[in-house]
Amino acid sequence: MRVETRSRSVVEAVGIVLRRMPSEARKKVEEFVTVVRADRDFHMLGLGGIDPTSAMLAPTWKSLSDIGSTNYNAQIVVTLPIFKLSSAKSQIGIVAHEFGHAWRASQFGKGWHEYMQTRHAAEERLADDWSQRWGFEDNIKIMRDERRRIVNPLLEEQEPVIMRRILDQARRQQEKMRSLIANENNP
Ligand SMILES: [Zn+2]
Repeated sequence: MRVETRSRSVVEAVGIVLRRMPSEARKKVEEFVTVVRADRDFHMLGLGGIDPTSAMLAPTWKSLSDIGSTNYNAQIVVTLPIFKLSSAKSQIGIVAHEFGHAWRASQFGKGWHEYMQTRHAAEERLADDWSQRWGFEDNIKIMRDERRRIVNPLLEEQEPVIMRRILDQARRQQEKMRSLIANENNP
């Protein structure tokens, strides 16, 4: 498992969780997750607003031609602007929860992502269960509590501003593309 981010809060939370979890589970998770990376931007849920997820276990395809197949590795992607709304204790809970997903996924082998998507609610509970079993009960409790009291209300309040920023960014990129194409057609 590589940690490909300079975000100190992510590096620290990953280090703490790895040190505190039982070694057998740690070995499995470190083997299964190829990379932990961080995103600096919010994601949109179609036109339905911003995705409130602070981190997720996701497939990462080994090559372009593999996209869409079950030929993928596992990565954990942290959405920094959301992750950073949480306290350090809660961030440890977020990482432990994702490692709980990774531990589950490592038992399923090929196609784990598709399989787990069909059992979303159950897998959410199991990721919490596993991280609690590894000794992160307090962190999971704080994570759930902050999510309800702080993170969700803040995201809801900020959503119009964030959405405008994302849309502006998309529009600027489009304009840039358009002028690049125009320049190419009229050298
Ligand atoms: Zn989850």
